Amino acid sequence: MSDKKYEAEREALLYKVKNGHTLITPEEKEAARAYAGRYMAFLDAGKTERECVREAVRLAESHGFRALEPGMELKPGDKVYLATYGKALNLAVIGRRPVADGTRIAAAHIDNPRLDLKPNPLYEDDGMAFLQTHYYGGIKKYQWTTVPMALHGVVAKKDGTVVEICVGEKDEDPIFIVTDLLIHLAEAQMKKPLATGVTAENLNVLVGSEPLPEDEGSDSVKLAILIYLNETYGITEADFLSADLTMTPASKARDLGFDRSMIAAYGHDDRSCSFAALDALFALEEIPEYTAVCCLADKEEIGSMGVTGMQSQAFEYFMERLCGGAERLRECFRNSQCLSADVTNAFDPTWPEVSDKQNNAHLGCGVCFSKYTGARGKSGSSEAPAEFVAKIRRLCDEGGVVWQMGELGKVDAGGGGTVAQYMANRNILTLDMGVPVLSMHAPMEVVSKLDCYMTCKAMGVFFRDK
Ligand code: MN
Ligand code: MN
Repeated sequence: MSDKKYEAEREALLYKVKNGHTLITPEEKEAARAYAGRYMAFLDAGKTERECVREAVRLAESHGFRALEPGMELKPGDKVYLATYGKALNLAVIGRRPVADGTRIAAAHIDNPRLDLKPNPLYEDDGMAFLQTHYYGGIKKYQWTTVPMALHGVVAKKDGTVVEICVGEKDEDPIFIVTDLLIHLAEAQMKKPLATGVTAENLNVLVGSEPLPEDEGSDSVKLAILIYLNETYGITEADFLSADLTMTPASKARDLGFDRSMIAAYGHDDRSCSFAALDALFALEEIPEYTAVCCLADKEEIGSMGVTGMQSQAFEYFMERLCGGAERLRECFRNSQCLSADVTNAFDPTWPEVSDKQNNAHLGCGVCFSKYTGARGKSGSSEAPAEFVAKIRRLCDEGGVVWQMGELGKVDAGGGGTVAQYMANRNILTLDMGVPVLSMHAPMEVVSKLDCYMTCKAMGVFFRDK
């Protein structure tokens, strides 16, 4: 009796995060599974920002998007895209209102933590050939040893030709590996902190061990590799100097769990949000009121700098073209709103000590909004104004989006940033949102299919804002 007394108040006044699986219909569950299938295909099609741009452009063109050309006349309903040096991509569906009235932007990133090759990477030691690496983004280095790796990227030659390389993804391909010390001789290594047990200079990738036949010269294994590379790709050792080559985990995206409710894959950060933004843009059936923009940025993992990062004027260039002039761009930014779509940490019950359970995203509870990011006193955060958060709450609730609010871990436990601040600095109202991830930045990250689907659904609702 007494526990029922305040039932109405409990229902009306208390905020409670519920598991999304208990909230959605069987039809929506099926839609989430179908969405996960599309997303996993996208993950396997693109492991680097270049591959991701190519796949996104392929998908966009199949949905009626055209490359934006200078001087192109744009009218409501037009679908355009513009790539930046093949490594970043902006897309838009022109809305009914003038672009200067504001846009609805979903901004995500398509670079991932990985092992980039050093400019002069190939060497031979003790009859084995290795490639030296310089890791990209924040990684726990010990996680990247004894993991099957694939080589991805391009080599640009002096004659202007660009050779594409992708080895390790097909079943018949060889893979590559960073070795680790055997446990039998690891007594000293095992006493070191995790941060130094495997160092950056230990991350050398084994790529060969067979010397040339009947060769008495030095570096015979290395030379054999170079002969193979020359015959296969027409490159020499000096061509490594002008290359974007990287080692990524060779794995494909896989269903995770007996119930197949999750996905284990390399690159959920931030493909899970990149694909959500793309899929939501492609799904716009009616011409939106406001121009819908999808930004897929490079270099987020290392500070969003450079010509393909979110701080680049490449975004202004694209938006200026949509506005039809520089003078309207300021007006456009002033009136625009952005969801900065990047993953956040999912609460991990094995490591509860880093999270405040009440203020952390939980796996399967939907897309997570973060009013602010940053670390140690919100440092580096752009923090969304309360009014904008309220608007997004309303849109999501009206649109049937399962969502939650969280921050990345306990205060002073660490933290991270996103591209949100660079959008907000442009005078664009911006809120962080994204998919909760387990094992973020590891060679295999984990997400919930429901959360991925709800991230896409939230973007759809935002793009259709009136
Ligand atoms: Mn990210
Ligand atoms: Mn990241």
